Amino acid sequence: MHRPMLFDNHGRPLNYLRLAVTDRCNLRCFYCMPEEGINYLPKKELLSFEEIESIVSVLAQLGITKVRLTGGEPFVRTDLMKLISKIMDINGINDVHVTTNGVLTAPYIKELKNLGIASVNLSLDTLDPHRFKLITRRNEFEKTRNTLRMLIENGIPIKINTVVMEGKNIDDIIPLVELTRNENISVRFIEEMPFNGEGSHYSKLNWTYKKILNHIESAFPTLEKIMDPANATAYHYKVKEYRGNIGIIAAFSRTFCGSCNRIRITAQGILKTCLYDDGVLNIRDLIRSGKSDEGITQELLYAFNHRAKNGIEAEAHRNKKIITESMSTIGG
Ligand code: SAM
Ligand code: SF4
Repeated sequence: MHRPMLFDNHGRPLNYLRLAVTDRCNLRCFYCMPEEGINYLPKKELLSFEEIESIVSVLAQLGITKVRLTGGEPFVRTDLMKLISKIMDINGINDVHVTTNGVLTAPYIKELKNLGIASVNLSLDTLDPHRFKLITRRNEFEKTRNTLRMLIENGIPIKINTVVMEGKNIDDIIPLVELTRNENISVRFIEEMPFNGEGSHYSKLNWTYKKILNHIESAFPTLEKIMDPANATAYHYKVKEYRGNIGIIAAFSRTFCGSCNRIRITAQGILKTCLYDDGVLNIRDLIRSGKSDEGITQELLYAFNHRAKNGIEAEAHRNKKIITESMSTIGG
C-alpha cells in the first residue's frame, strides 16, 4: 500500500512516533524522577489501549511508520505484549521498538522476539551494582544485567542508553565502550537533560557531547567516525577492531534538530512535536469528546505545520517557562 510522506513546516519528514504507555516506573533514576513525592496520574487519565490504537492508526494513515513504546517503564503496564502485538498489526506501521530499564523485561524476551520487535533500547548507566543503586535508588542491577544477557542471546538488536553524569558514572564510560568489543551492540552516551521532575540539581551541563567524545578518544586511539543513519540523533563512532559501535547524543546541546523526524505522545495523550515543548495538542481529550478521526487528523496536521524550528525555539515558546516535568511522563 502506498503511504503518504508527512512533512512539517520546515520540510522535515515526520515518520517516527515515540509513545509513553505509562508514567509509572519501578526505578527512581536520579536524572529522571525525584526520589519521593511523585504524583502519578490517576489511571483514568492514561490513554487506554483502545485510544492508543486509534491514535496510532490515524498517525499511520498520515505517514508514521515507526513506533517506539516507552514510559515510565513500559513493562509495568499490564498486558504490554498485547499492545505491542496490536500496534504491529496496524496497517502502515513497519517497525515497533521498545525502551526499557530492563528490570521486568527478561521474561518477555522470547515473546518479543517471536512478535518481531525491531529493537530494544536498554537503559544502563553503569556496570557497577553499587553505582546502579545510587543512580536508580533501587537495588535491581542483576535483573537489568540479565536482560542484557538474554537480549544478546536471543539476537535482538540492542542499543544501550547511558546518561552521562558528573560524579555519578564517569568511571563507567570506558567499561561500557568495552561492551562493544565482542558484541554487536550500540552504546549511546546521552547528555543529561533537565527533565528530572524537580526543576533543580541541574545548573550547568558538565558532560557535553564534545567532552564525552574527548574522554572516549583518549582511551581508544583507534576510535573512528562511522556514518550516521538518516535522522539519527546520535553521532556514531566505532573502535576500529570492535564489533559494536557507540553513539553520542547531544540531547541538551540540541545539534540534531535540523533532521528531527519524531513526534511524541505522553502517557496522558498530549502531543509534543519537540522534546522541549510542553505539549501542543491534547489528543486524548479530542478522542474523549467524540471528535472524528477526520477532525483529529486536521488538528494533528495543524500541529505538524506549526512545529518549532528546533529545541531552543520550542523551549522559548513553552507556557511553563521552568522545566519541571519528569522524563517519565515524556518517554525520553
Ligand atoms: N523507563 C524506561 C527506561 O529507562 O529505559 C523508558 C523511559 S526513560 C524516560 C527513556 C530514556 O530517557 C532512558 O534511556 C533514560 O535514560 C532517558 N532519560 C531520562 N531522563 C533523562 C534526562 N534527564 N536526561 C537524559 N536522558 C534521560
Ligand atoms: Fe524510570 Fe526510565 Fe525514568 Fe529511570 S529513566 S526513572 S527507569 S522512567
